[in-house]
Amino acid sequence: MVAEIISIGTEILMGNITNTNAVYFARQCAALGIDCYYQDVVGDNEERMTQMIRTALDRSDLILLSGGLGPTEDDLTKEVVCKVMGEPLVEDPHTKARIQSYMESHLKSNPDSAITANNWKQALVPENGTVLDNDNGTAPGLIIEKNGKIAVLLPGPPIEMKPLFEEYVIPYLRGRQEDVLYSHMIKICGIGESAVETEILDLIDAQTNPTLATYAKTGEVHLRVTAKAKNEEEALRLMAPVEEELKKRFGNHIYTMEEEVTLEQAVVDMMKERNLYLTTAESCTGGAVASRIVNVPGASEVLGQGIVTYSNEAKQRYLSVREETLANYGAVSAETAREMAEGGCRNTGTEACIAITGIAGPGGGTPEKPVGLVYMGCCVNGKTIVREYQFRGSRTKIREQAVVKALTLLRSCILDAE
Ligand code: ATP
Ligand code: MG
Repeated sequence: MVAEIISIGTEILMGNITNTNAVYFARQCAALGIDCYYQDVVGDNEERMTQMIRTALDRSDLILLSGGLGPTEDDLTKEVVCKVMGEPLVEDPHTKARIQSYMESHLKSNPDSAITANNWKQALVPENGTVLDNDNGTAPGLIIEKNGKIAVLLPGPPIEMKPLFEEYVIPYLRGRQEDVLYSHMIKICGIGESAVETEILDLIDAQTNPTLATYAKTGEVHLRVTAKAKNEEEALRLMAPVEEELKKRFGNHIYTMEEEVTLEQAVVDMMKERNLYLTTAESCTGGAVASRIVNVPGASEVLGQGIVTYSNEAKQRYLSVREETLANYGAVSAETAREMAEGGCRNTGTEACIAITGIAGPGGGTPEKPVGLVYMGCCVNGKTIVREYQFRGSRTKIREQAVVKALTLLRSCILDAE
């Protein structure tokens, strides 16, 4: 089945909103094993929409549309699709009742608004279509099947579109696919992308089913193992030997095999299991490491405090970095990073401290200490490791890389401390 993604809205054409719906649809198609050859954007214009939808239905089996299902004059998607597909629109009493009750409860919290006549336009549905109840808005999603083609119409706001897609469209599309794709994500930190690729070249060359793909993220590499199979059980059986092999090759560098788990989540989980309490002592990352940790619900169980010591005085006062150390080696040095980490643990009574000091640029670099030079100290249960890194890129890029490296270093120090 070949799909085509059509995003409707002049706002998208003008660059006023980012077309995240298309990204979402594309990823969902990839996960479902549906090929997608075209993505289109068209404004709220009847003639151009008609042309676009006609073209799309000619060359694709499935069109996924978002936007233009609302009550206003410029919301034309349903009308145009039905016209092109030769499908009459009829009033759906079930949808009408849902709109009524949605609007009434909306009116209770917004007494100044009113139900206007154009709201009932949303109760018109294709005569032979499937109506997808929208719990987060008034316009239902719609599926129309005709002459071997399928059109899926969803509202533009992602908070309405995604639940409809997940609840109704995925099962519907799965049911129409002979084979389904299942995949697992193996997330690796502490090894660069090219090293990872070199390590698995033989597996990539030999791949048929499952396939193996690498994705580089800042400071991380993700490997997606994807199997095509009749059902989940068979897919898992196909994936298992490849996953075992990857575990053998990357060992502790794999921080999770679950799609949803982030690096910070993995680090927080490790600390919880080991009853470790953390202090972050940051200079050039300005609290960004602590912020990543705080992304994780329940971070309070592992994070005591994040201390941002930007000036030399602050490093002395809050982390007890010695004046001689700063004078002899400078704030960006292995010695200072070590004292920051050890002072962070000592002064707060936590078992672990990750400390970061570096030159984020664009100014402030010297031949001996160029922009992007970052030292990190990590102290876990009294043992301190210090590392030097040389990052490249803009100030933002350097800081982003430093944050990921800090989480990676913390993770490896926790593993070493066992
Ligand atoms: P509404 O009932 O809210 O008018 P609609 O189905 O008519 O919904 P649009 O009017 O096209 O949808 O868009 C409404 C809002 O949905 C936009 O302002 C935007 O915030 C969001 N939206 C629409 N299309 C997209 C898209 N392709 N990607 C991300 N967001 C989108
Ligand atoms: Mg609209």
